[in-house]
Amino acid sequence: MDGSFYMEGLPAHTSDEDAASAAFRAAVDAFLDTELTEDLRAAGRATTGLKSASWACKVWREKLNARGWYAPTWPVEHGGAGWSAEQRLYFENASAMRDAPILMNSGVRTIGPLIIEAGTPAQKAHYLPAILNGEHEWCQGFSEPQAGSDLSALSLKAERDGDDFILTGSKIWTSFAQQATHMFLLARCEPETHGGKGLVFLLVEMDRPGIEVRPIRFIDGEYETNEVFFNGVRTPAANRIGEIGGGWKTAKQLMAIARGNNTTTGLLRRAMRAARRGAAAAGLTSPSLQMRLAELDMRIDTLEALDACTDNGLTGLNTAPAASQLKLLATELHQAITEAGLEAAPNSDFAQAKYLATRAATIYSGTSEVHRNILAKAIGCP
Ligand SMILES: Cc1cc2nc3c(=O)[nH]c(=O)nc-3n(C[C@H](O)[C@H](O)[C@H](O)COP(=O)(O)OP(=O)(O)OC[C@H]3O[C@@H](n4cnc5c(N)ncnc54)[C@H](O)[C@@H]3O)c2cc1C
Repeated sequence: MDGSFYMEGLPAHTSDEDAASAAFRAAVDAFLDTELTEDLRAAGRATTGLKSASWACKVWREKLNARGWYAPTWPVEHGGAGWSAEQRLYFENASAMRDAPILMNSGVRTIGPLIIEAGTPAQKAHYLPAILNGEHEWCQGFSEPQAGSDLSALSLKAERDGDDFILTGSKIWTSFAQQATHMFLLARCEPETHGGKGLVFLLVEMDRPGIEVRPIRFIDGEYETNEVFFNGVRTPAANRIGEIGGGWKTAKQLMAIARGNNTTTGLLRRAMRAARRGAAAAGLTSPSLQMRLAELDMRIDTLEALDACTDNGLTGLNTAPAASQLKLLATELHQAITEAGLEAAPNSDFAQAKYLATRAATIYSGTSEVHRNILAKAIGCP
């Protein structure tokens, strides 16, 4: 695969655009060939979970940021690359084909775009550069023990005290809270309310007194998620996005951004490469396996075309259902790929780890059932 795709409905290219596109591709290829050293590629290949080893992520982030490519979809004026869907997809695929380290950066993918869309000028000036230079790492504090799919049942208390809120309660399943410097969270600021009313969307530093992070270990021994306890944590009310009481609207905005780009086609192509490597090492070359892998390749191509159409507003779905569609298809495809990889190499520790690591993908950022409900509603099912 070279990362190119064609989809009816996408605007046709002029010859000037073709030349610009070829120049872009050449620049990306040259950059990746020069900067992706063998140790970085080895770290990329060795990745089983959502992100590569910390040292490799740091080195790769710094190289990308120096080139202005760390935040592909952010506008240039905020330090992003300002790429079109086509450019973003080419870069993802070209990186995948060279086993670049996998960066799972919540700052770039979720809260950054939200701050760009809905943050104040002061928030943009404070948070965006710190995300790009790696000073701030973010985690997401939405789920609570009694509020998962039914997120609006959340009860973390935000009591107003002068210019601050005092937070009391807990969050659960918070990915990478152990290394985050900041958390964006939803809390209930109007105690008598239920559901999506009376919430506030806050940006909170993780070193505030009263925050306690406790690990949750997965069945395979990995440590990614946590319980986070708030024992009277004081945080400024000004550090919020949206209105006090209107946090649900902000959270929905955030989720439409986050669900769409959690599992990228680059991640899927990396998983395909791993499955093929595993099959080759296990000496498996049967036509039926090759057919199965080719089918999975085609599903990635289809997803990629859909991704481009979504970006160009051509799917006929508004933002939230379109993001649900991409999240659902991408995560279920990721599981199908690692399943094929495990069947091809059942004794491989790597294939086993990769298989286990993708099981949770259809739970986090909304379960598949929840996304199917959203899509059903969008197409008018009762
Ligand atoms: C690895 C991992 C990482 C995570 N990271 C984060 C994080 O960083 N931050 C964060 O805030 N949260 C995180 N989560 C939490 C995740 O968002 C929730 O687990 C998810 O929303 C489901 O909620 P729940 O676990 O409470 O399950 P429940 O909501 O109790 O659901 C249980 C089952 O019932 C089904 N179900 C529920 N409601 C419906 C319905 N209306 N129709 C049909 N079926 C339904 C679900 O699909 C599921 O199969 C993470 C979860 C995992 C597993």
